[in-house]
This record gives sequence, structure tokens and C-alpha cells, in this order.
Amino acid sequence: MSSIRRYNFPTRILVGLDARKEVIPALRERNLSRPLIVTDRVLAKLPVLQDYALLLREAGFQVAVYSEIWGNPVKSQVTAGVEAFRAYQADAVIAFGGGAAMDVAKVIALMIHHPGDIFDYEDGIPNGRPVDQPIPLIVTIPTTAGTGSEVGRSSVISDEEDHRKRIIFDPRLLPSLTLLDPEVTLALPASITASTGIDALTHLVEAYLAKGHHPLCDGIALEGIHLVSQFLAPCVHFAQRIAQGETLSQADHARHIEARERMLEAAMMGAVAFQKGLGLTHSCAHALSTVCDMHHGLANALMIAPCMEFNAPAVPERFTRMAQAAGLDNPNAATFIAWLRKLNQEIGIPSGLAAVGVKTEHLEPLVKWATVDVCHPLGPRTVTPDDFRALYQAAL
Ligand SMILES: [Zn+2]
Repeated sequence: MSSIRRYNFPTRILVGLDARKEVIPALRERNLSRPLIVTDRVLAKLPVLQDYALLLREAGFQVAVYSEIWGNPVKSQVTAGVEAFRAYQADAVIAFGGGAAMDVAKVIALMIHHPGDIFDYEDGIPNGRPVDQPIPLIVTIPTTAGTGSEVGRSSVISDEEDHRKRIIFDPRLLPSLTLLDPEVTLALPASITASTGIDALTHLVEAYLAKGHHPLCDGIALEGIHLVSQFLAPCVHFAQRIAQGETLSQADHARHIEARERMLEAAMMGAVAFQKGLGLTHSCAHALSTVCDMHHGLANALMIAPCMEFNAPAVPERFTRMAQAAGLDNPNAATFIAWLRKLNQEIGIPSGLAAVGVKTEHLEPLVKWATVDVCHPLGPRTVTPDDFRALYQAAL
């Protein structure tokens, strides 16, 4: 039985079984009584969310649920969420879900007291509006171990008009309280556990390889890679056994909880580490989401090995450190990349882009979108459109 552990870095984080219930004292302390739970369409129908809403109602809170979120987050989902918050006269936002729900929830909170359009607050635009008004309390409860958005200071929201992904960034979007509760991830299917877990790993790897001197992020990234090497495959294998109808023994149930908890930490650490930057795998993945509407984690999983082969000659010593963190014999770039491929196989990631419907006619649009993406310039090697074409071909 794990107890709840607490730390305050980079925000207030509580980790352990039942950590989700700690929202109750947190709301009471602040005299808040009308939380809006922001979640996605799928979760809204599941017992894990319904039980949570009931728990809060029984504790005396007036709870509303906004669940019009699906796929990659888009502007209209935020706009409708802001209307729901106002119509309900909510006073706090509880993001309960994966990256999409958390990204939408943070921007809903931002827009409650800020005028104008959500993209007036896009990071780095000329004449952007300032974030200078109050923001309601944001609590995050991730139900996947992947994006790390629960401790992020930004949200990625797509514009439905031009399909461009835009980053809304402000330090005040950092949630005030993050509750990492393995209980809410125990029922996650094996395939989503796998793809979101590789997203977390990609954050850790790309953050470690990103240009710039940042020993804090580097240390966090290496320890996160270690956690993924120990706990991602067990999470997936437990999920597969449960899906086959097996009832886990008490000892295995405890191991499952521990593995889920460690992966929640690894994912959170990935998002802390990538304050340093990401790299070309994410540029490739963002293009795959835009052009083929592919799940972000799956896209990273399919691109990471060829992208790391591309990066390795530029920073071989960094690959040795990552291979050491993953506990590999004979640590070097080749063993690390072989481990990435083996891990993908072990957790059931499809064998290549073609297996998930990407065709040669998608190549040119993919190259176009990847080239204009903001992530790859921070990586250790300059990437040209020809390089992107070769990487996509290698991943087909
Ligand atoms: Zn990612």
C-alpha cells in the first residue's frame, strides 16, 4: 500500500493511491465550492470519472462536468468550455484526463477573465495580449502517463481555420495542484498505455538532447529515462493481462500500482525536462497529427528510432549517458537505438507508418509541416526538408 508523497517542484504535487481525493481539502482551504471538471467524451462515460464526480458531490461540492473534448484539442472546445464555466458560475477548474483535456482546461481557465480571442495569447506573436487578469484555480489529475501537461505552463490548441497548432504559454498556466493517482490509470488499455508512455520517453530523450546548458533538466531527463526503462513495459503487460480477463494476484496488483505510479512520475518529469526544448521527433509527430490525424504518442513512437539515428552522430556521448540511464550493457548510441526499437516491439507499437495508413502521397505535406514546426531547431542537428523526407521514408 503506497502512501501519498508530496513535493513542491515545479508546482505542488501529490503522488500516490487516493491522491485524487486531496482536491477536497484544497478546494475547502480556498473557499471554493463549484468546480468544473474538464474531461473528454470517452472518460465522461466511464466509472472512473463518474465516481470522481460523485465523490466530490458527496463531499458537499456543486460539481459540473464539461466533456466536449475529443481528438487533438481545438479552439471551439475551449470556447464551449468557457461558456460552460460561466453558465454554471463555476469557481475552479479540475482537469481530469489526458493531454487534450488538460490543455483545453488550462486555456478555459485563462479565458474566464481575459478579453479577446484565445489566439491573442499565443506565445511569441507581435501585439499579443498580456496575461494580467486573475486565473481561476487549476487542478490537474492526469489519467495517462504521457504528455506531462499536468505540470506544463503551456497548452497546444489547433486553429480549426488553418489547422495550425498554436502554443498558448504563460507561467501562470502552471496548475496550482497536480494529483498523480495511479488508481485513475489502472484501467488504461495497453495500446494507450504504450503510446502515451513513448510520448513521455520522447520528451525525456529530446529534452536531454536539446541544445543549451541546463543541468537541472538534463538530470531530470536521465532519471526519467531510467523510470521508463523499468516501468513502461510492465504497465503495458499488466494492461494486456487484465484485458484478457485475468484477475491479478494481490502481489501483481501492487506491482501494477507501483509501475503506474512511477510512469506518472516519469511523464511529469518529461514535461519539466522539456522546458529546455524538444526536437525533430516532435516536429515529425506534429506533422503526422496535422496531415493524418494520428495520435501524438503513436506518432512519436513510430518516428523516434529513425530520428535518433539521425541525431546520434552529432552527440554520441549524450547517447552513451542515455543508454547508461536505461541500464543497457555496452552503453552507446547503437545499443540505445536498438533498445528503443525493442521497447516498441515489446509494448505492441505497430511496425511502421505504413501499418497505420500513412501513404507515399502523404510524404510532401508531412515534409512541409515538419519543416515549419518549432521543435526541430532546438535539436542537436540542423534538419533540412530532404532530411525530413528521408526520415519519413525510413519510418514507412
Ligand atoms: Zn509529446
